[in-house]
Amino acid sequence: MADDLYLAALPDAVVVVGPDGHISYANLATERLARVPLAELSGRPLDEALPLRDGAGNPWWACSARLRRLPGVHRVPARQLQLVLGGRAVPVELAATFLRDSKGQVTEALCVLRDDSARGRADVTRADLISTLAHELRSPLTSVKGFTSTLLHRWERFPDDQKRFMLATVNADADRVTRLINELLDVSRIEAGRLEIRRRPIEVPKLAEDILARFQLDPDGHTFQISFPDDFPEVYADADKVAQVLTNLVENAVKYSDGGTVIVSGEPADGAVEIAVRDQGIGIPADQIPLIFTKFYRRGGGGAPSGTGLGLYIARGLVEAHGGRIWARSEPGRGTEVRFRLPLSGPGAAAGE
Ligand code: ADP
Repeated sequence: MADDLYLAALPDAVVVVGPDGHISYANLATERLARVPLAELSGRPLDEALPLRDGAGNPWWACSARLRRLPGVHRVPARQLQLVLGGRAVPVELAATFLRDSKGQVTEALCVLRDDSARGRADVTRADLISTLAHELRSPLTSVKGFTSTLLHRWERFPDDQKRFMLATVNADADRVTRLINELLDVSRIEAGRLEIRRRPIEVPKLAEDILARFQLDPDGHTFQISFPDDFPEVYADADKVAQVLTNLVENAVKYSDGGTVIVSGEPADGAVEIAVRDQGIGIPADQIPLIFTKFYRRGGGGAPSGTGLGLYIARGLVEAHGGRIWARSEPGRGTEVRFRLPLSGPGAAAGE
């Protein structure tokens, strides 16, 4: 039946309940939400087959009996409930319509259920965002404020080298705040799909050399190597964005290793190039590798270097905006390799353009 097809195609679960509280119809989305085959839902009491509980743990159908007895009530506005299945609670939004006969008796209740867990996750992310940002902004600003007010009030009392030290700290901390703000702007551009990729032919080995030259100035106990074949092709990409990705990967390689060699390498790969940054650092446990490219993921613990957990998320956004992809391999205790692939000419770049 065409109506059935439409109902089946709906993203929200639609459940029809008879006056006795038993399910008379459920669409396909219900099966996905409840993780139970449709055949097992039909004919069963709603409160048992789809245990919807309010904040106090009460079953929804039983609790809505009062509303069903009020003849004037036809619509129950959307409300948040928990669907408790197999020891796990899925937040759902439920809206219901009561169909009534001429005497006002409920003949059927039409319930629409929407999986609300994504909203829950978004809220958690927002809460995480605020606490991460507050922390990341507060620590550099503490030193900016502390040192500038000390210098303003006691300028005469400090020798030049101490004044220079304080100003250098303020300078570095102001850079940290600027960087965090730039990262946040990148995140918002990535998420709004507003990242502008300005492609031109670029020489990645030259770009990598320039980046490593900057790290050489302050090697922090590391040695740097570069390895590209002579026939490494030109890539049609956004030079600034590729440099941003490479800089971030080398920064991580340095940050998460206690000395050792950091190698930047590249090779042609079937209409694309692959570029890798390898270190001999602490590594990443296998189960956490998929998480490192997600927003705000940081492997915490005492002594973990500071960061926002945004670097690899942004790197992934920049690589994917070029039509490429990025991934990592790691051996805990031995080192990590983060590798990305860029098409020679990505989407939107006509051949020979
Ligand atoms: P941040 O470095 O600011 O925490 P990133 O998004 O750059 O954020 O990295 C996310 C997490 O991935 C880091 O907190 C770290 O635990 C892990 N990680 C990234 N690169 C490496 C690496 N080269 N070696 C070990 N762990 C890494």
